[in-house]
Amino acid sequence: MDWARYFDERTETMPPVWTRRLEEELLAEQVTRCYERAPFYRRKLAEAGLRPEHVLGVGDLRHLPFTTKEELRASQEAEPPLGDFACADPLEVVRVHLTSGTTGKPLVLGYTKEDLRTSARIGARAFWAAGARPDDTLLHCLSYSFYTGGLADHDALEETGATMVPVGLGQSGRLVELWEDLRPTAVFSTLTYPLYLAEAAQEAGLDPRALGLRKLIVAGEPGGQLAGTRRRLEELWGAKLSETYGLSDVWGTFAGECDEQAGMHFSGQDGVLVELVEPETGEPVGIEPGSTGELVFTHLAREATPVLRFRSRDRAEILGVECPCGRTGFRFRVAGRSDDMFRVRGVNVFPSSIEELLRERGLDRFAVLLDRFPVEPPVEILVEGVDGKEGELAQAVKTRLGFTCVVRAASLPRTEGKAKRLYRLYEGEERPA
Ligand SMILES: [Zn+2]
Repeated sequence: MDWARYFDERTETMPPVWTRRLEEELLAEQVTRCYERAPFYRRKLAEAGLRPEHVLGVGDLRHLPFTTKEELRASQEAEPPLGDFACADPLEVVRVHLTSGTTGKPLVLGYTKEDLRTSARIGARAFWAAGARPDDTLLHCLSYSFYTGGLADHDALEETGATMVPVGLGQSGRLVELWEDLRPTAVFSTLTYPLYLAEAAQEAGLDPRALGLRKLIVAGEPGGQLAGTRRRLEELWGAKLSETYGLSDVWGTFAGECDEQAGMHFSGQDGVLVELVEPETGEPVGIEPGSTGELVFTHLAREATPVLRFRSRDRAEILGVECPCGRTGFRFRVAGRSDDMFRVRGVNVFPSSIEELLRERGLDRFAVLLDRFPVEPPVEILVEGVDGKEGELAQAVKTRLGFTCVVRAASLPRTEGKAKRLYRLYEGEERPA
């Protein structure tokens, strides 16, 4: 069947000047609403000597102070559950999700009915770009507990018209047994889950390529666009892989890769404004091809728990602002999460870059052990299946990534969820093997 190219053509192909005008209108409303209803924002604006009427255009945004996760957490600790940055009447809040951050206490994020509609619409644009269509039977294989990756993304996928199967985690064996009954054509999961599912199929004597899965839509792990990973998963399943991006502090999913497979298109036009900043200084960086920086988010239409200039700690690279597909949302990739990054004698290292190097050699299970802070070389890296090539791999890490390591072979724990790559032993985390 020939489906329309876009879920929401008007918004997705809007000329940039129109998008800008829409953003400015919504921004003024959002800032006013935050100022009038949330003591948290009234305080922050007052400290910066600002009133809502000072924020008329996107250019004025840079005068607003940043909001950090720590501030939001402190606000919620003082006034549980939603904190004094919440703007909606508690009676209007119909759902809360938790943030899934790996560090610290999660935030509790509220949604009104309108927020849920906005979330689903924005997410549907991303998932449509990533290939979800009404004739798909789509396995949702992320945890349904707490996080936006569960229900919020389910709603957005359902909005595309796809037939959803709410699978969750821990069901691989059962899923393989039910395969013939369900005849799924697409899966939405973490980047590593399709590998795990393929193993479950192979253990049951089935060839993944013969199972009819045509689309792998993946979320939540920096590195999904790495050429090696993509090729391996696509070959394993005979399917096309598309990456999506979301951040639970903001919305569930609000970017997805189109057929061109050249970065994820931002799809949150009427729900969130994106800035790029230099992580160290906070100085704005232009959103243009080749620029890199930390993503900073300002809600444009969030009723319950809005954020203004929220520091995401996600570092992005802008790949383009135009695309043959016609979408006008800029294209980007996420290089890594600052939380996941570590520094060895001045060299910034993202586990995703180690992963890229390993996958080129057909390896994918690894763990980086940091035994002291500040981290000193050599860094210990455990790799499954590396036997005999430890020295060659350590040399490749040194050459390509610029730090000295010791590679050891080890058998690592299997996980269906997000693969854990970094172990901060100096913070009391236990060695995985
Ligand atoms: Zn495109």
